[in-house]
Amino acid sequence: MIRPRPSACENMNHRRANSPVSHCPQCGGVVNAQLSSPPCNDAKHAASRRQRSAFCVDCGVQLIIVR
Ligand SMILES: [Zn+2]
Ligand SMILES: [Zn+2]
Repeated sequence: MIRPRPSACENMNHRRANSPVSHCPQCGGVVNAQLSSPPCNDAKHAASRRQRSAFCVDCGVQLIIVR
């Protein structure tokens, strides 16, 4: 999995002590390793994609490929 450097991302979740999500929707990096989410499925990822999340906030998989 590609892990961009945290400094490259300005998402507010990185600055939170207790982020409500386990992964950043912008870079896919882990923002709260203590959160355990239920397994993802395609429907959930499709819904996240429609909300323009580049990455799944639960598993960190890339949803939108940007070139
Ligand atoms: Zn990020
Ligand atoms: Zn997911």
